[in-house]
Amino acid sequence: MSNLSLTFDNGPSRSVTPKVLDTLGKRGIPATFFAVGQNLMDSACQAIAKRALAEGHRLGNHTFTHSLPLGLSSDPNIVDTEVAAMDRLIRDLGETARLFRPFGGGGHLDQRLLRADVVTYLTDNAYSCILWNAVPGDWADPEGWPERAAEQCLGQDWAVLVLHDIPTGAMDRLDVFLDDMLARGVCFRADFPDHCVPIRDGRITAPLDRFVAP
Ligand SMILES: [Zn+2]
Repeated sequence: MSNLSLTFDNGPSRSVTPKVLDTLGKRGIPATFFAVGQNLMDSACQAIAKRALAEGHRLGNHTFTHSLPLGLSSDPNIVDTEVAAMDRLIRDLGETARLFRPFGGGGHLDQRLLRADVVTYLTDNAYSCILWNAVPGDWADPEGWPERAAEQCLGQDWAVLVLHDIPTGAMDRLDVFLDDMLARGVCFRADFPDHCVPIRDGRITAPLDRFVAP
């Protein structure tokens, strides 16, 4: 049986995230929302994030502005402005878990993801760094992503799937995808497999060279 950890990046969004929560809630499926800080400046989006927490989901740190991948930035203050500032927002909303997801601009898993000072912040603050192994490109193909997602997820023992709760129209097909996975006996999980977590609770558990800017 395949295991599947669902993650939603780049939200929350007023128009999409509540529908995603409805879809998950009807099926009792847990997820992690890797939110962007700027979106949480909006009080309606803060309420949506609190709703996600109240319904048993996790809220993770996906940076404050989600602009340049951290590994490509030369800004000396990026830990404060992008990672720590977002951490404070998440704590204020009541989340106690410390889950960080970097971005490589299109799902790339390479040295764009991290910088040495970001790694130090994550280890000093007992963060886990949650990567992925299934990126069906829902943002680029709002109609066709479920078939690709199914193929990517069913082809491995434990998939960490990246979707986006943003207004592309892709999440209109979330219910179809989830029902297909449930019908195939997929086990939805709130936790993450070791091979997608190179830093767990502040401890580096896998070589990071391939994810950290030189
Ligand atoms: Zn992202």
